[in-house]
Amino acid sequence: MPANKKTKALVMFSGGLDSRLVIKLLQEQGIDTEAIFFNLPFGTGCCNLNCTFNFSQMQGIPLKVIDCTSDKYLQDYIKIIKKPRHGYGSGLNPCVDCRIFMLKIAKEYMKKIKADFIATGEVLGERPMSQHRKAMDIIEKESGLKGLLLRPLSAGLLEETIPEKKKLVDRSKLLKIKGRGRNKQIELANKYKIDYPSPGGGCLLCEREFIKRLKNLMDVKKIDSRDLKLLRIGRHFRFGKNIVIVGRNENENKQLLKLKNKEYYLEVPGCGSPTTLIIGKSSKEILKKAAELTARYSDNKSKEVIVKYGISKLDKEVIIS
Ligand code: SF4
Repeated sequence: MPANKKTKALVMFSGGLDSRLVIKLLQEQGIDTEAIFFNLPFGTGCCNLNCTFNFSQMQGIPLKVIDCTSDKYLQDYIKIIKKPRHGYGSGLNPCVDCRIFMLKIAKEYMKKIKADFIATGEVLGERPMSQHRKAMDIIEKESGLKGLLLRPLSAGLLEETIPEKKKLVDRSKLLKIKGRGRNKQIELANKYKIDYPSPGGGCLLCEREFIKRLKNLMDVKKIDSRDLKLLRIGRHFRFGKNIVIVGRNENENKQLLKLKNKEYYLEVPGCGSPTTLIIGKSSKEILKKAAELTARYSDNKSKEVIVKYGISKLDKEVIIS
């Protein structure tokens, strides 16, 4: 390395407090930092892109956003969810594989920007699945970052990394935080005068109801970027190779209409009615079931309800008793 080249770190930035502290700790050592944020298909439960962007702006550091909600990254991620090498956490969350997936992408970006190493906000023992020592070792090895993955918040408890050995980073200034308590991190947030989002409820892959929807949808079709939105709205009903989605309010009805492709949709005219969407090739039988659901959730409580349906417009109708 030329004598005047400044050490550069690429920080895995979720937006949460831990990764914010990593940026501050490295900056305090005079290390040039750049942040990388992954917009994952099912969220991280931490921070959205806006608040992540705000923080990076305030700190004056570049922020690279990797969008994994479409195309190849989305398909690669879905493959991981279907068959993770290292298993699931409490839900459908393949945390170890998920981290390896992100770090492999980050590694390529690290090379591109000529950073010396990658830093993460991981804390030893903080998360049951991906932050115990064995999992952290697997993540480091399988992402191809052996010796190049620095966890500044727990570094004092972990093996020395290459940047520490090369004195690019002062190990004595790194921390020895362990476990799930947040006191030390909060103390540091006060010291650095940084605000941070309160911890989110975790990613959607840990939520039982969402998992059920996702599994059903994955069974009937290849997931695409539109599906990521559909999964978040309406009541979902599975009938064989079809999913029927019934809007729960006006906003969801509007969204369903916006998101629909060449698919059947249904409504009960002249009253408060859900918009219902049929995913998958519709048969007469499915149309009838969807019409029954539409009538059931509409405000029309007559013995016989007319339900209108169609693909580009509601030009057909069926009577539901
Ligand atoms: S909870 Fe696990 S699966 Fe979800 S984003 Fe975090 S690491 Fe990935």
